[in-house]
Amino acid sequence: MNILDKEQLRANLDEVFWKIEEARITVSEHHIVQIVAVGKYTNIQNIATLYELGQRAFGENQVQQLKERMTTLEELPLEWHMIGTLQKNKINNLIDLRPSLMQSLESISLAEELNKKLEAKNSKMNCLLQINAAKEESKSGVSTEEAFDLYQQINETCPNIKLKGVMTIGAHSEDTKIIQKSFENTHKIYEKLEKEGAKICSMGMSNDYDLAIKCGSNLIRVGSNLFK
Ligand SMILES: *Cc1c(COP(=O)(O)O)cnc(C)c1O
Repeated sequence: MNILDKEQLRANLDEVFWKIEEARITVSEHHIVQIVAVGKYTNIQNIATLYELGQRAFGENQVQQLKERMTTLEELPLEWHMIGTLQKNKINNLIDLRPSLMQSLESISLAEELNKKLEAKNSKMNCLLQINAAKEESKSGVSTEEAFDLYQQINETCPNIKLKGVMTIGAHSEDTKIIQKSFENTHKIYEKLEKEGAKICSMGMSNDYDLAIKCGSNLIRVGSNLFK
């Protein structure tokens, strides 16, 4: 975890901007894409430098690390996202951190548990329903078949959870067609959910965010491409 030069980070950010620009324009001139910079491979200095370069939204995949970074950088007007698996014994810690968005709501049982604890703390949380679109054992998330119904079920039974859309991790494959399929399937569900108020379709990481945007993603989570 080296401390990176500001000019290096600026070049990385520019490269991502240009790739986003190329991809989003194939969807529509009005298609806007938000970048969440994923800090899990980097250190806090590089996050602060990226802030100086204009980046505002950051994501972490562990509650403990999220807490440390939010605390250290609390003077900065940043938006923090939780993007990793949430263990049930960390729910209260996460609630106390008040993240802008919890992207990895991966099951109905986690939703129920989270809702119960939010209620007890008289708190609310913005969340995305995570979809395991590639049906991979190693990944969390609800199936594409169940996603639409579960989204509605959470909306009806978990009033302290504010669902804002869906999140997926692209298929782990060398075959672009397979990755594309996982994004397309997620985006189809998102389109149906727009009628239920969904606004965010979080898809795409360093290796596949251009493809994800072409499939309709409006939020990408980029780590290694920014902090290299
Ligand atoms: C690590 C991580 C990312 C960023 O991955 P890169 O390939 O480094 O861009 C995005 N989303 C999730 C859920 C992650 O865990």
